[in-house]
Amino acid sequence: MPDQENRLLVIDDQPDLCEFISEAALSMGFETMAVTEPDAFRRAVQDFQPTVVVLDLQMPGADGIELLRYLGERGSKAQVLVASGMDQRVLATAEQIGRSQGLSMLGALQKPILLNDLETTLRRCLRGDTLVTPAALAAALDKREILVHYQPKATRVAPGKWIVEGVEALARWNHAQLGFISPARFIPLAEKNGLIRRLTEQVLEMSLAQCRTWDAAGLQLSVAVNLSPQLLNDLSFPDQVARMAAQVGADARRVIFEVTESAAMFDPSTTMDVLTRMRVKNFGLSIDDFGTGYSSLKQLYLMPFSELKIDTSFVRDVFAHEDARTMVETMILLAHKLRLTACAEGVESQEVLDFLDSVSCDRAQGYFIGRPMLGTALELAVREWNAKQK
Ligand code: C2E
Ligand code: MG
Ligand code: MG
Repeated sequence: MPDQENRLLVIDDQPDLCEFISEAALSMGFETMAVTEPDAFRRAVQDFQPTVVVLDLQMPGADGIELLRYLGERGSKAQVLVASGMDQRVLATAEQIGRSQGLSMLGALQKPILLNDLETTLRRCLRGDTLVTPAALAAALDKREILVHYQPKATRVAPGKWIVEGVEALARWNHAQLGFISPARFIPLAEKNGLIRRLTEQVLEMSLAQCRTWDAAGLQLSVAVNLSPQLLNDLSFPDQVARMAAQVGADARRVIFEVTESAAMFDPSTTMDVLTRMRVKNFGLSIDDFGTGYSSLKQLYLMPFSELKIDTSFVRDVFAHEDARTMVETMILLAHKLRLTACAEGVESQEVLDFLDSVSCDRAQGYFIGRPMLGTALELAVREWNAKQK
């Protein structure tokens, strides 16, 4: 039966090759769509929303690279495989172009494509496959295979001066066979299978330990940990986190919890209770991905947040769309009126940081300031960044 979460789109001018790839994918549980020309491809990207794209680089009358760009411009999250009869160097260059467009490039398939290679490659991008299961995740928690990467969050301490004073902790599953697995893939699994509390406690524990290591090295940083909305339904959670912080002597003021609203909001009075108790215990509370539909205006004024995080999708577009600029400015104003700090996510250039500076955004986070990285690398990156701020 086709899997709603696994949609494969293939474009190749040879219908028989389309069929070969579609059939292999179908037998593995993908829903599939095959097209032979660019216009149909563009329509399919929009309507079919593929999670995997197999793209022929060489088609008469169509340019595979242009289609890669199209995927990039549309911000496609699909994993992309390029196929061609050309030599490995050309395939490698195409992969590089895809990456520079922000695409998740899965690799290249040299024609003629062997069924075995194709299946091995596709298995890697099948969601919920045989290796990423609740049992495997539970075992990973036992074996401590979940790691934390830290991404710097810079604070605007004076006009034009952004000092890194905190980080966001981002979970990564270091899988023995698959390598690093994105949280987008295993957090929903943890939520659905009663593992999210254990996972969050491990992330918090590692983050607090990391803070102590940085402290010892003379680097004082706050740490933000993401909380699944499920945990806001758990009345024992605030006491548990307070105990964990007290055990390692961490000041609650240095710990921030980032929360999104889930589509099916849990009991709002319990959520309010949990969040208020966290604030009373002096933890910071941040409303994450604000403006995306995961976090609403209503939540913002009802719940005791201390920070508003403006979602990447607005920040990324401030120079492409005037409306995005207006949204960002207005969200900062709204935060300030509500006595919250505003943090912009997804800052990828100096220009965007300068814009945020001009509209008095309080905090900024993004690849331009630093990517998520291990604790030791982060220490060096932060020292280097802070030293450059006059
Ligand atoms: P988030 O909390 O909104 O985290 C920010 C995400 O944006 C991270 O993705 C980060 O790597 C990415 N990002 C940061 N700067 C940039 C940039 O300049 N450009 C672009 N394009 N992206 C940027 P990541 O690490 O894949 O995490 C995805 C989501 O998974 C997080 O979104 C968070 O909601 C969730 N998550 C991560 N760790 C945990 C956890 O321990 N518990 C829970 N419940 N959720 C977690
Ligand atoms: Mg977050
Ligand atoms: Mg976010």
